[in-house]
Amino acid sequence: MAEIHLKSLAHSYSKSPSGPDDYAIRQLDHVWQKGGAYALLGPSGCGKSTMLNIISGLVQPSEGEVLFDGKRVNALSPRDRNIAQVFQFPVIYDSMTVYQNLAFPLKNNKVPAARIKERVQEIAEVLEIEDKLHKKAKNLTADEKQKVSMGRGLVREDVSAILFDEPLTVIDPQLKWKLRRKLKQIHEQFDITMVYVTHDQLEASTFADKIAVMYDGQIVQFGTPTELFEQPNHTFVGYFIGSPGMNLIDVERCASGVRFGSTDVALEGWRLEQLNRLESTHLKIGIRPEFIKLSHKPEVNSYEAKVLDMEDLGTYKIIDVDLDSQALKVRVDEDFNAEVGSHVHLTLPPEWTMLYVDEFLMQEQA
Ligand code: ADP
Ligand code: MG
Repeated sequence: MAEIHLKSLAHSYSKSPSGPDDYAIRQLDHVWQKGGAYALLGPSGCGKSTMLNIISGLVQPSEGEVLFDGKRVNALSPRDRNIAQVFQFPVIYDSMTVYQNLAFPLKNNKVPAARIKERVQEIAEVLEIEDKLHKKAKNLTADEKQKVSMGRGLVREDVSAILFDEPLTVIDPQLKWKLRRKLKQIHEQFDITMVYVTHDQLEASTFADKIAVMYDGQIVQFGTPTELFEQPNHTFVGYFIGSPGMNLIDVERCASGVRFGSTDVALEGWRLEQLNRLESTHLKIGIRPEFIKLSHKPEVNSYEAKVLDMEDLGTYKIIDVDLDSQALKVRVDEDFNAEVGSHVHLTLPPEWTMLYVDEFLMQEQA
């Protein structure tokens, strides 16, 4: 297993890219550390598969370097890179049995026969397909085929990393959950570098210790699920993580901080200071529905808002409010009641009110 360093990486599928829009991977620097369980999370088309294929060597990047444990591997073939990759759809040999499919990568690597037998058995047990070992792969269900495909990735012990590219897409939801647990268990057991690609935040956070959020060919944040939730580094992370996502409001500068409509949001300390020195006028504030406080009576620094809608989700409610023509979502306890059309008072706690400049979180400068 290896540390994987993507250095000044960029990739365009076009021969003569004319601008950033022609790049599937824009400038990107990233390190996947040895032995980590990672998720690569982002919407369809943001460049996730391109990144995996660059790591495994299926795609040659137009710019930058791929380093395994500090050694440049750009010129190495996929085979010589020793990466196992599991794709969205099963890649197996239909005419072979399950056993032969699982043994194949090991035979190729000249693993002794006795060890092949042990290892195939071990992996088949983990994936719960040991009773299918002597079945022809073509007679398997779609789920079983994908398990075999995953098994072919997991079976090798010498790999630098295992890359999973949305491997559970074809698996039914029940089994999905179970297989994800299995992968996590396999990670703990074999301590292998794993990168798991998904567009599903729940899948990402149940599998990974750290998540890289990708947007528009860039990794906009790399952090724990809690970090992504509490300190979204980019408006996209705020919006994409969480359910519902972060409230984002376009604002402009004013004497005390920022404002939208006739609503002032005061900022203090370094934030106000830095704001005053900013060149950009592309500003947003972001606050998660969980962090807005609602009450029936005015509070210190509260704003009056009108209730537009209320959705009861059993253990909590999501209330849509209008604050100065700005629609916001607020998460409240299930015992909070407010009539649609009535007025409530909301507070934006400063510690949870983020300021975004050109979509990136404004952070305290040293
Ligand atoms: P993801 O896996 O996140 O859905 P991809 O890496 O597949 O994203 O794609 C990133 C971008 O590159 C998309 O705009 C996609 O259309 C484009 N793309 C992917 N593969 C190719 C290819 N072989 N040729 C040209 N464009 C491609
Ligand atoms: Mg993809």
